[in-house]
Amino acid sequence: MRFAIKVKVLDSCIGCGICWTICPKGVLTGKLRDKAYVINEQACSGCYSCQDNCPYSAIVITPTITSQNN
Ligand code: SF4
Ligand code: SF4
Repeated sequence: MRFAIKVKVLDSCIGCGICWTICPKGVLTGKLRDKAYVINEQACSGCYSCQDNCPYSAIVITPTITSQNN
């Protein structure tokens, strides 16, 4: 079974910078007071630090099964 992790930034993001500062994998970047965006989704380890620490609940981490065969 293979997994991929979807990293979605919602419109409620206010660009506080917490998520791209704490992400240990360089998945996120952005400009302060603008909006975070995803630059390297494949690197996401699914640690949930961004989702857990976003004060606006503006990041959603979703592990998905991409293949059942291996
Ligand atoms: S922590 Fe939340 S509000 Fe702050 S930049 Fe990231 S997604 Fe946006
Ligand atoms: S779940 Fe962890 S590795 Fe993935 S984007 Fe969020 S902070 Fe980065």
